[in-house]
Amino acid sequence: MAFENLSERLGKAFKNITGKGKLTEKNMNDMLREVRMSLLEADVNYGVVKDFISRIKEKAMGQEVLTSLNPGQMVVKIVHDEIVALLGTEDAPVNYKKSGITTIMMVGLQGTGKTTASAKIANLMKKKQGRNPLLVACDVIRPAAIDQLKTLGESIGVEVFSLGVETKALETAKQAMVYAKENGYDTVLFDTAGRLHIDDELMQELSDIKAYVQPDDILLTVDAMTGQDIVNVASSFHEQLEVSGLVLTKLDGDSRGGGILSVRAITNVPVKFVGLGEKIEDLDVFHPDRMADRILG
Ligand code: GDP
Repeated sequence: MAFENLSERLGKAFKNITGKGKLTEKNMNDMLREVRMSLLEADVNYGVVKDFISRIKEKAMGQEVLTSLNPGQMVVKIVHDEIVALLGTEDAPVNYKKSGITTIMMVGLQGTGKTTASAKIANLMKKKQGRNPLLVACDVIRPAAIDQLKTLGESIGVEVFSLGVETKALETAKQAMVYAKENGYDTVLFDTAGRLHIDDELMQELSDIKAYVQPDDILLTVDAMTGQDIVNVASSFHEQLEVSGLVLTKLDGDSRGGGILSVRAITNVPVKFVGLGEKIEDLDVFHPDRMADRILG
């Protein structure tokens, strides 16, 4: 599971300050140095760590902490709250339309878990949010991607709209919207093409679909295992498409967690969902405070 090492190291850093009646400046500086090292070793972006530590320092050295009965606990709380802030503070729900069909474009590099996430999200919407979703296979380059989506759709009882590989992605998207209207769907999720790298052709195709569909959400899947590269990928997609949310996948892997802790702070794009395994149910709505609890162990 992500964050295992980080949680352990932070726990050790706090051990020396909790339970103490009074904190000296040295106690505080030792703890801050340890927190800083833990974050850097977890591969959190350097600039993010620097700002994070200086915010904690400012708050932890304040009068309220130094004169409190249990200053250690207060400092731990300050760190907790700053981690929540790094992760986005507020929950970021799906931008459902009040009426009419909500449209969601799923984008991301190949292998990040985009197709799996599309099905997981459709399943969650159907089972937990009472929505009536339609999945649309817009990755028309790879026949395997269409088959994969169809298989997933069948397993969760969600219809998959596809015109095969002969029809262009934009045309598939257009016809899917007509189909959704005619058949009373209230949510349409477009599984768009994935590539190994970002290229102009991919971005053009995605921009064309975006211009036509005018999606309520553009969700980018990023793989936790790719560490800080998450930030580069998210920044590139965001620059070109204005992504409205992130889906962090493979949090069940043994990633160090640095990308996750950096990406929101750098791109300002909220995390909306997290993938926690290969099974359809292994998806959670993202809550910054719960994730912070997990990181702090
Ligand atoms: P796509 O190319 O981006 O559409 O990626 P896929 O949806 O095909 O997923 C690629 C691989 O990652 C598949 O083997 C998935 O089962 C796996 N995968 C997707 N999400 C997760 C996750 O949250 N955890 C784990 N462990 N594996 C995942």
